[in-house]
Amino acid sequence: MDKTQDRKSRSVRGIVPENHPRRESILIRERLVEALDKDVVVPQGLIAQGRGECFDYLIGERTRDFAERAILEAAVLLVEAKNPVISVNGNVAALVPREIVELADTIPAKLEVNLFYRDETRERAIEKVLRDAGAKEVLGVGEDASETIPELFSERRRVSRRGIFSADVVLLGLEDGDRTEALVRMGKKVIAIDLNPLSRTSLTANVTIVDNVTRAIPALRNKILEVKGLREDERKKILTSYNNREILKSAMRFMADRLSQLSLDL
Ligand code: ATP
Repeated sequence: MDKTQDRKSRSVRGIVPENHPRRESILIRERLVEALDKDVVVPQGLIAQGRGECFDYLIGERTRDFAERAILEAAVLLVEAKNPVISVNGNVAALVPREIVELADTIPAKLEVNLFYRDETRERAIEKVLRDAGAKEVLGVGEDASETIPELFSERRRVSRRGIFSADVVLLGLEDGDRTEALVRMGKKVIAIDLNPLSRTSLTANVTIVDNVTRAIPALRNKILEVKGLREDERKKILTSYNNREILKSAMRFMADRLSQLSLDL
């Protein structure tokens, strides 16, 4: 039996009881392992998910106030952007394929495959996931990723000229700190979704949504529908009253307070 078949035979999909307290999280893991076998996710992506799960535990696996406020900010930025681009990596494609395509259609924004571990097999695998989910155009695949982000080395710097390279607002789900910093230095407004408020990505982005992509992406889409109905001055007020440092502080405080409370309740 090869490794893929062996993993399939050990899959718990279909046998996790409906009332299992960790059901959702177990099924998400299964989804990522299946994506690993299709070249959509790399093993390092599983480790990133594990780090994310730990922070999700600390916020009680719910979208909290600090994430809601960042989602509102992100919605206004995306609606007002001239060339908004959603950067899609393997984990995002595996976890929320349909939701990310719906989000792109709603804004409307371009979708670009953007990988830390880039190779054409993975680019094509992720493109296929997005097209199967309804995407009409997917940037950043093959020759299309021919521009480079300054100051970054290796394959990580390749982006699409029509996409991230010329974008004014970029939405990143699970990104590494170097690339986030480089995009901010290029003058782009960067929105990051990252469960870890301490990561360099979280600290560098203009807007940090400390939440799971599985909850944040659908919530962002709903918020965009609302924001489209707001007046110009209402949107402006939202933009000018936002402070990302305060959002990160409040996420960190929330985690610390929740742990203190839980320790008292033991
Ligand atoms: P940085 O380079 O920004 O300091 P890092 O080294 O932690 O961060 P990665 O290893 O690329 O970066 O991890 C990606 C980030 O994505 C992690 O901070 C992790 O908490 C977060 N993450 C993982 N899974 C999810 C998820 N499902 N939703 C939101 N964030 C997630």
